[in-house]
Amino acid sequence: MSRFCMYPTGGQAGVMLEHCAHARYVWNLAVEQHAHWRPGRKSGPGFAEQCRQLTEARRDNAWLAAGNADVQQQALKDFAKAKTARFVSGFGEPTWRKKYRHEGFRVIGTDRVPEFRPDGSPKLNAKTGRQVHGRSVVVRKLNRRWAQVKVPGCGWVRFRLCRAELPAAKTFRVTFRNNQWHIAFAVIPDAIEAPGTGKVIGIDRGVKITAALSDGRKLNCPQLTTKEWAQIRKHQRRAARAPKGSDRKRAGYAKVAKLKAREADRRKDWCEKTSTILARTCDLVRFEKLNIKNMTASAKGTVEQPGKQVRQKAGLNRAVLAHGWGLLRRRTEEKAPGRVEAVPAPYTSLRCSACGWIEKNSRKSQAEFVCVSCGFTCNADENASCNVAAGQGGIPRPRRTAGAGGVTVATGRSSAREPQSTGIGIPLA
Ligand SMILES: [Zn+2]
Repeated sequence: MSRFCMYPTGGQAGVMLEHCAHARYVWNLAVEQHAHWRPGRKSGPGFAEQCRQLTEARRDNAWLAAGNADVQQQALKDFAKAKTARFVSGFGEPTWRKKYRHEGFRVIGTDRVPEFRPDGSPKLNAKTGRQVHGRSVVVRKLNRRWAQVKVPGCGWVRFRLCRAELPAAKTFRVTFRNNQWHIAFAVIPDAIEAPGTGKVIGIDRGVKITAALSDGRKLNCPQLTTKEWAQIRKHQRRAARAPKGSDRKRAGYAKVAKLKAREADRRKDWCEKTSTILARTCDLVRFEKLNIKNMTASAKGTVEQPGKQVRQKAGLNRAVLAHGWGLLRRRTEEKAPGRVEAVPAPYTSLRCSACGWIEKNSRKSQAEFVCVSCGFTCNADENASCNVAAGQGGIPRPRRTAGAGGVTVATGRSSAREPQSTGIGIPLA
């Protein structure tokens, strides 16, 4: 996918927002149709049937008829795709789209271009023997920095061309989020080829250092600065105290959202750049296997049994999510398919990468690692990443076994437990 910032004029933006509204309306209708299903009932209508229904609905509804039929139909197509991919996409069952939050629509190109097979021969119709033509989006390069795309009802809309060549795609998707329009062309880029040097790298992801590499590099995901956090808190405080429904309240929360969007942009940019570097320079990338969803579960508990240190856990969760661990791993896998491995995470931070001894006393502090067995000294994160690179970590947990007929009593802590976070300051942002 190649995504660019889009800069429509005021009039064009108005038309595009209307497209968003139509696409959302049609999508939500489709969601409603399928939400009706219960075991024993007939399944909801498929794409072809929905398209027929859309034509009928356009005849009765003037607002819908005023919109673009292609945009509305593509919303149904998107829904059909989301529905078929619901078990593999990770997004699950397609759900409701909300105004201001999910603003976007898909456009199918109006140009017709001859299609070719992967070997370069022209694709022919099996019956008639004539050349098959496929759709293509209409794009035009203006100069080195700017290009234009045809959007139905808007004519040419400019977008910032931040790549050397124009993308060739059948469809594109326009989104409006955080007050910025984006255009994403539906192209799957080729995988990055392995350099062929046989280099294996292990990556230990942490909160202090986002990614410690086994070759000693320490990469950090940029966070919001202290000043920016102070600004967020200031606007949050003022908005919270402003009268209900006032302009001041809305403006305050808009400023908070803008700053948080900046944080997300920064994180995404870093993940993209880092995953490209990893895919280009290493033959095999090993990550420790983390279940981030479980790790960042809330500690709140229930009303009867409230959890302990809920605020602290929430802060840690926020810090974990702010480092984009999941995104880095996913993007690396997408750029270097088949060259990313998962290593079991237990004890990677306690195992000595020189002799393999596992002991919590080796971990002197958050950053320092001194092996109690062989005296190997290293930075703790680097030591962990070396273990990951070697594919080492998980061994069976040391078990407290009871004698014949005895009952196991938990006495004291195991010697293979990480130092807990008493000394580590969790940034409570
Ligand atoms: Zn050792």
